[in-house]
Amino acid sequence: MDRIAVFPGSFDPITRGHESIIRRALPLFDKVIVAIGENTEKRSFFTLERRLEWLHQIFGAEPGIFITCYSGLTIDFCRREGARFILRGLRTAADFEFERGIGQMNKLMFPDLETVFLLCVPEYASLSSSIVRDIIRNGGDVRQFVPEGIETGSH
Ligand code: ADP
Repeated sequence: MDRIAVFPGSFDPITRGHESIIRRALPLFDKVIVAIGENTEKRSFFTLERRLEWLHQIFGAEPGIFITCYSGLTIDFCRREGARFILRGLRTAADFEFERGIGQMNKLMFPDLETVFLLCVPEYASLSSSIVRDIIRNGGDVRQFVPEGIETGSH
């Protein structure tokens, strides 16, 4: 059976932290599905189309990476895709506490699903999409924080 992992997130915008987790996960799985979760309660800064376009731009040429979006529960999406792994990145103890709650609830609802955590590389430990959005809102240059070639202007 293929080892399929889903990396769910908002990617609003995608950062070098996300990119690093996805690339480092590649040797662990046969297929990594990078999936933008459409959250009806959270209004995104960048449109879904723009976020999908960036993911295609960055990972389109990678044979093991698939890009998509979904709404509803992540575990239902995993079931539909035949994925037995959810991939998440850990930066801080706060991330751990947050992820522990979600991961353990997911485990109760879908016992065959494993959440796999990769530790963030130290250089991206303070990097988050929300800080990147703040910098953009205030006219700063975010090129060093987002993947090579990503243009976040005029959102
Ligand atoms: P969510 O809206 O679900 O928090 P994000 O797009 O912010 O989605 O993050 C998706 C995943 O990427 C989460 O597991 C998060 O911990 C991880 N992540 C975010 N920023 C970084 C980073 N700088 N380094 C490593 N992992 C990160």
